[in-house]
Amino acid sequence: MEVLAKKGREENAWIYLARFRNSREHLVEFVDSVEPGIPREKKWCINISTQFGCPVNCRLCDAGGSFNGNLTAEELLAQVKYVLGTRNFMRTEKLKVHYARMGEPLLNPSLIASLLELPEICRPNTPMACVATTAPAGSYQQLVKLAEIKDKIYRAGKFQLQFSVNSTDEGVRDYLMPVKKMSLQELAEFGERFWDKSDRKINLNFALARNIPVEPEVVGKLFNPEKFLIKVTPVNPTRNAEINGLESMVGFEGKPDLEIAAKFRELGFEVIVSIGAKEEIDIGSNCGQYVKMWNTVNC
Ligand code: SF4
Repeated sequence: MEVLAKKGREENAWIYLARFRNSREHLVEFVDSVEPGIPREKKWCINISTQFGCPVNCRLCDAGGSFNGNLTAEELLAQVKYVLGTRNFMRTEKLKVHYARMGEPLLNPSLIASLLELPEICRPNTPMACVATTAPAGSYQQLVKLAEIKDKIYRAGKFQLQFSVNSTDEGVRDYLMPVKKMSLQELAEFGERFWDKSDRKINLNFALARNIPVEPEVVGKLFNPEKFLIKVTPVNPTRNAEINGLESMVGFEGKPDLEIAAKFRELGFEVIVSIGAKEEIDIGSNCGQYVKMWNTVNC
């Protein structure tokens, strides 16, 4: 792996652009970030890419548009090692490794092998692994394997699964995330089998966009609040979101008192309203943007 560039700020995020296999077809981004006001010694987040581009092509993300294959387990872990190495593998109280940058992690068969090796390369820290997915229909077996690994080596809250839901209307979900994927009913049924009482709740992520239907009652009928929580995020200001007219219902300043969050809470769900720092948006840290910019400038 060759790191070609980095941008960002120490107090928010460093975004790295790297090339694998000595080929411009094999560029990825990965991120070293902190939560505002919390030092890396307390909480440190690393967000890695799983594919070269993304075949899913979500309407609110810039990672799609091209797809040049999967990273190997070694290439997945190289991103984590690089970030840890920049700080000499220092100790932190909480290390989160997100498989959530470019690519749909469940479409990469090397995801499982990399999760098996991750704890070893994170020493002296014990990582919490987070996998964010649209839950493509054909990757059900990968989810089953994730459940096995979670029970084997990421017990007691060291694993976080996040489903990108975005709307409660299946037709609109298909529009936003144009891949054949598990229905809401199937996600709920899978969660029932996946979740164990020592686990973190499974996140149902909604990037709230104007005119995109989200009905808390539909979620309430299908999902158990003891096993699932709701995460509400803004639609990041990506080029694709703009082209597709997806305007965020959640701003980036402060924490809005969202009516929809209140409705979910009334139904018994824990709700996290997760708003990226404005500085992060200014860095242009949204998924796929750095690789796209690099290709535009250097082609
Ligand atoms: S949101 Fe995830 S799955 Fe969708 S295009 Fe972006 S990287 Fe791919």
